[in-house]
This record gives sequence, C-alpha cells and structure tokens, in this order.
Amino acid sequence: MAPVPPTIGQRIRSFWERPDDFLVDAGKAGELLIARIRLGVTLVLLLIPLVSYALAPPAEREQHLTGFFITLFAVAVAALVFMLVARDRRERWLPLATSLLDVSLISFALVIYGLNVSPLQAVNSLVTFDTYFLAIAATCLRYDRRVTLVAGLAAVAQYLLVVALMATLVGKVVTSEELERYGQFLWSDQMARLINLTIATAIAVHIVRAMQRQRELSTADPLTGVFNRRFFDDYFASEVQRADRYQSPIAVAMIDVDHFKRFNDIHGHATGDRALRNVARALQKAIRRSDLVARYGGEEFVVIFRETSAEQAMERVEQIRRAIEAEPLLTARTTGPARVTVSAGVASWPADGLTGDDLLGRADQRLFEAKHAGRNRVIGPPLDRPPLAAMPDAAG
Ligand code: GH3
Ligand code: MG
Ligand code: MG
Repeated sequence: MAPVPPTIGQRIRSFWERPDDFLVDAGKAGELLIARIRLGVTLVLLLIPLVSYALAPPAEREQHLTGFFITLFAVAVAALVFMLVARDRRERWLPLATSLLDVSLISFALVIYGLNVSPLQAVNSLVTFDTYFLAIAATCLRYDRRVTLVAGLAAVAQYLLVVALMATLVGKVVTSEELERYGQFLWSDQMARLINLTIATAIAVHIVRAMQRQRELSTADPLTGVFNRRFFDDYFASEVQRADRYQSPIAVAMIDVDHFKRFNDIHGHATGDRALRNVARALQKAIRRSDLVARYGGEEFVVIFRETSAEQAMERVEQIRRAIEAEPLLTARTTGPARVTVSAGVASWPADGLTGDDLLGRADQRLFEAKHAGRNRVIGPPLDRPPLAAMPDAAG
C-alpha cells in the first residue's frame, strides 16, 4: 500500500514541532558565536560617532553625540545578551528573543536615520538594510526553523512599517540636497527589497530544515531510531560536566536484552530486529523529554536521566523493565506470542563516580550482577529502603 501523504494540518504541526533539547544544545554554540559578533560589531560601531564628533564642525556635533548614546545603548543590550547566553542554561525563549532583537535593532537604526538624517537615507540605505540578511542567515545557527521563520517575517513586517513611515515623511520634509545625496523614494525599489527579504527567509528556513534532517540522520541508530553510540558518548560526557557545574543529580542505566542470542535462534533475526525496535519504543515511551535513550551496542541500550536521583532512576527503570516484560511480540514461527525481558544496571552522579566513564563502568558492573543474579531485574546503588523484588527469569 502506498504511504498516505501528510495533510496540510499535519505538515504545519510537524513544522512547528519544537526541537528536542539535543538540538537546542547544538544551537547553543551558534547562539554564543552570534552573541560575540553582536557585541563586537556594536563596540566597533561605537567608534563611528566618536570619530565623527571629533572631525565635525561644532554646529553639527550634537547629532553625533545622540548617535553615540544610541549605540552605547545597543552595546549595553549586546553585553547583557552575551552574559545570558554564556551562562549555559537551557533557556528556550532565548534563540527567538535574540533573533527578534537583532532584526529590531536594524529597524530601529533605520528609523533613527529617517528621523535624524533623512527619510531617504532610511529607505535607500544599503549597508544597514543588508544587515537584515545577516540577521536572517544567523538565525540558521540556532537549529530551529520556527525561529528563522518568525525572525524573517518580523524583518519583512518591520521593514514594511519603516517604509510606510518614511513614505509619509518624504512628502513633507525632503530637500533637493537630500534627493541628490540619497536618491528618490520609489515604491518599486521598496517592493523589490521586501521580496528579497521574503526569499531570503524562505531559503534560510529550508536550510535549517535540511540541517535538522542531516543531524537526525547522523545521530540516530538506523534500526531503532533512538540516538546512536557516537552521539551518546559526546552528550553523556558533557552532561556529567554540566551536572558537576550545577550540582544537579544525573543517573545512567545500561539495559541489555536477556538471552537474545537464543531469541534470535528460536524466532529468527528479523523477529529479533522487531523485538529490539519494541524495546527502543518502550524506553522512549517511558522517559521524559529531557532524558535520552541511545543504542549502545547490539542489544544493549543506555538511558540518561537528567536531574534525577538514583532512587527515582531506579523506579523508572523498574517500570521500563515491567513494561517490556508485559509486551507480547507476535512471531511467525511460534504459535504463541514471544516475550523479551531485560536486565539493567543503574549508576548515579556523584555517588558512583564523577566522570561519564566511571558512571558507565559502574552501571555495566551492576548489569553484570543482574545477569548473574538470574536476569530480568534492575540493580542500582544500595538505597535506604528494601530492594525491589527480584523477578523470576522469564526466558530461562
Ligand atoms: P545475556 O542474557 O547474557 O545478555 O545473553 P545474550 O544472548 O543476550 O548475550 P550475547 O551478548 O551472548 O548475545 C547478544 C546477541 O544479540 C547476539 C546477536 O546475535 C544479537 N544481536 C546483536 N545485535 C542484533 C541486531 O541488530 N539484531 C538482532 N536480531 N540481533 C542482534
Ligand atoms: Mg543480552
Ligand atoms: Mg549484550
């Protein structure tokens, strides 16, 4: 049967889906780069009114002083944003807020030119207008197509407002000197500019979608769709460092399918693959958005529980174990449904180790203990309460 193409509503919903935390982290590096550039550019721009002030005849100096204070305000905003971004927290509103800020600063500059210098300079400016394109391109580094779309449309809307405002002023206050210096006001030119901004936005959105897709492909395990080992290794090391920085607990579980070699022998490799996909699905269903599941190796999975104590993680893994045990799998070769069970080892920061490697080693050791104790069970750090009841080994 041919796959049903998605409806327009589904397309919009999937476009609007918020990127997961892992993409937000990827966008974080871009956000920091943009914050540095923003601060650097505003600092350099501060020199322009200063130099102009020094060179200008006394009668024209006041105008440059105004320019200096406006730019100083922009420097202060850029410095504030830089500090916010450098704090390394996951602030979901920040990428959209900073993208809108960049676009609005450009529109603000155009309005200031229009009111202080000439409305014709505002609408015919080249460098300042082109900065909209830089701002739209920079949104791509945030890895969020919604941010790019909203910021791009904001640029179009704001520029339209700037042009409308200047159009009313042009009729009243323009001198022939200004006309000669900055050129005429032409609606056709302004329309072309608006169209270019819209096209730039569409291209940028397309680039971000392609980047997101590439990233999904390079970080996913092809069989199960959960994250792959390479991504897990990077992410876990940095997440343990983050736990240390903010002194917030983090736990990891290593989960291994029991007697899977035998399962394959009895039910065939294809059913084995299906069982692995089922296990991955059960894991993903059981975790929060901020947690992460990865396929560590053949029939071994790892789960990172952020901001979770050892005790909470144990409870969650125990629930996962029961859910997998309860899920029947229809097979071609046997009459009744087949079941798989899993064993798991849990370790938590900081009690079981301070680095990612230490924690994984500890979880692996406990997984080994769980296998030796009869499989289909979860072993974690000793807790202050009675241990979870051991289950009989369903497969053996
Ligand atoms: P234990 O309970 O001690 O973990 O026993 P086990 O048989 O699961 O462990 P072992 O490591 O000996 O075997 C792992 C098996 O997992 C062997 C391999 O055929 C199977 N396996 C690994 N990757 C895949 C896969 O992608 N698909 C399928 N169908 N099987 C896989
Ligand atoms: Mg196994
Ligand atoms: Mg194994």
